[in-house]
Amino acid sequence: MVTSSRDGSPADAPKPEDDLDQAGITGWFDTHCHLQDEQRPLEVLQRARAAGVSSMVCVGTDELSSRRALELVRSSGDGALWATVGLHPHEATRGARVVEGLLSELACSPGGLVEAKAVAVGECGLDYHYDHSPREEQREAFAAQVELAARYGLTLVVHTRNAWEDTLGILAEARLPERVIFHCFTGGEPEARRCLDLGAWLSFSGIVTFKSAGEVAQAAAFCPEERLLLETDSPFLAPVPHRGQRNEPALLPWIGAAVAKLRGQAPQELACHSAASAMAAFGLR
Ligand SMILES: [Zn+2]
Repeated sequence: MVTSSRDGSPADAPKPEDDLDQAGITGWFDTHCHLQDEQRPLEVLQRARAAGVSSMVCVGTDELSSRRALELVRSSGDGALWATVGLHPHEATRGARVVEGLLSELACSPGGLVEAKAVAVGECGLDYHYDHSPREEQREAFAAQVELAARYGLTLVVHTRNAWEDTLGILAEARLPERVIFHCFTGGEPEARRCLDLGAWLSFSGIVTFKSAGEVAQAAAFCPEERLLLETDSPFLAPVPHRGQRNEPALLPWIGAAVAKLRGQAPQELACHSAASAMAAFGLR
């Protein structure tokens, strides 16, 4: 999550297929979007489907947005939509108790976490770029959510910005959850190696399409196939040529096309492999 001012009305929606010569590729998996915060989530979902994006994970950033994600997944009845429950570092002052409360509520409900399609704890982590919460409270809320993901056997979705040492330090100290995803990966090859050494997955966003992508692009080219994921982080971080517009899952093929080019891979092949990696990363297969 970053910040955005546009309202997401249809007139505002980018036309995903505009001169993307990969129309017709299917099976893309958007591992990180904030669909539940859209004004017309079902319309956005339809556009994603039309663009070949078959699976999405709706990511919570606090209690309300996590509940909205769970409700959208439930009410849409969509088989390829999942939700996460978490507290973003920007909201760390609220404390991770809200996440613990929601997880235990879901775990006690009929059908539990599986029925609720809650697949991960997060997004959570450290953001020393914006520092919207005191760093000590960010570290506490992150460590508590790492523990919750391990306790409930869920995937951990990590947001880290300008905080590699503390992020990796907290993970090194903790009981590591079975599956860890570094979302919106912004490191280079050295950070990629350290994350991969933890057994984690790296998820690449629209940043990889920016001219300034440099080391992130290197990491995307270097990342082992079975550890590589794709995401929009929508409505934020729209990829080139839609940069500055409101992002949405339907634009994921632009990110996929850029990563495929960096890896010298056919886009359809990347769509299939990254979707299979996503199913493994969320413990769905
Ligand atoms: Zn984030």
